[in-house]
Amino acid sequence: MKIHEYQAKQLMAAHGIPVPLGKVAVSVEAAVAAVRPLVEQSGNPVVVVKSQIHAGGRGKGTFKEHPDLRGVNVVTAGLQGGVEATEAAVADLAERMLGSTLVTIQTGPSGKRVNRLYVEQGVNIDRELYLAVLLDRALARNIVMASTEGGMDIEKVAEETPDKILRAEVDPAVGLATFQANGLGWGLGLEGPAHTEFVLFVKTLTAMATQLDTDLIEINPLVVTKEATVIALDGKMGFDDNALYRHPDIANMRDETEEDPAELEAKETGLSYIKLNGTIGCMVNGAGLAMSTMDIIKHFGGEPANFLDVGGGANAEQVAAAIRIITADPNVKGIFVNIFGGIMRCDTIAAGIISGVKEVGLPVPMVVRLEGTNVELGKQMLDESGLNLVTATDMKEGAQKIVELTR
Ligand code: ADP
Ligand code: MG
Repeated sequence: MKIHEYQAKQLMAAHGIPVPLGKVAVSVEAAVAAVRPLVEQSGNPVVVVKSQIHAGGRGKGTFKEHPDLRGVNVVTAGLQGGVEATEAAVADLAERMLGSTLVTIQTGPSGKRVNRLYVEQGVNIDRELYLAVLLDRALARNIVMASTEGGMDIEKVAEETPDKILRAEVDPAVGLATFQANGLGWGLGLEGPAHTEFVLFVKTLTAMATQLDTDLIEINPLVVTKEATVIALDGKMGFDDNALYRHPDIANMRDETEEDPAELEAKETGLSYIKLNGTIGCMVNGAGLAMSTMDIIKHFGGEPANFLDVGGGANAEQVAAAIRIITADPNVKGIFVNIFGGIMRCDTIAAGIISGVKEVGLPVPMVVRLEGTNVELGKQMLDESGLNLVTATDMKEGAQKIVELTR
């Protein structure tokens, strides 16, 4: 699960990590109202208005409705015109940004609608660095990545100048050691008070990552200010879904408007669903069978469009939801239902298929392979339903048939 920048900054602040002052706003009035207290508290007449979407690249992204407008805007009107001028500029920005669609390199061409803004104090930037804590599943540890090339596209840095990325592994038992934090700070060219602040920053950040079960914290840029302090100017944070039950306050930060509707429906109906890039939609019960189904589709030259496990004890509604989710994917050119009825009976599956298809229609070919408890009854129900399905007696035949039908 991902959260917004302003939420990540709230969490960082709560853990004692320095972030700029800011306030989230969902209306023009709220954005304007945020200005005066911010300017008074920070003593800086400059404020920044930042689109809150679950995607980066906002600073360079532009709005569909306003091609001249960026996703992050630094407002300097207050330098001359005082706080009233800042308020007027923020009103104008908020008016255009809220409800408009921001397109960045990370949103894809369809972009994302901006429903929330973050109004933040301006920071006097001296250097922009990169800092991330990410979960390395192979190592089963968090690793810290740091670079002097902050504010840039880090994938590009990794590809073109990999030596500019510093790494450190976090031992889960002891956390990031002081010598490691020191080494990272020196590697970034930090000295004096900025170095000291960075060491505390990165140690606190890694401790927070472990405590909150994040799978990613990316701070790009991490800024050294003209006043030689170290502060997180951006914050991207993602969490391990399997650990969210331990953090109900974080689970509450979920913004469903940012999530893929298919994955959301799957989650709500208790299905395990992962979208993939192929053309054959799969509906299977049990993770092991789901994986072997994907394997056998590939074996016959097809590409699965998803991993979908309806679980051992699925009911007819869940099966119908699965059909809805699969057929909503425009890449799907055929569906392979491969069910072994152990706990789940084949007639339940058949009832789910029939009601699902009646509801959403069947725009693409479907091959059904059923085996197990009540298989005869299930097959009979499908035969008598009058639906245009192809049946298969085993997995191999089913996979072959669906690959042929989607060619
Ligand atoms: P994104 O990564 O989505 O483009 P950032 O939060 O990194 O968004 O902002 C983009 C750029 O805007 C930063 O690299 C920085 O130069 C500038 N910026 C962002 N927030 C502030 C701030 N509070 N004060 C001054 N400049 C800022
Ligand atoms: Mg950024």
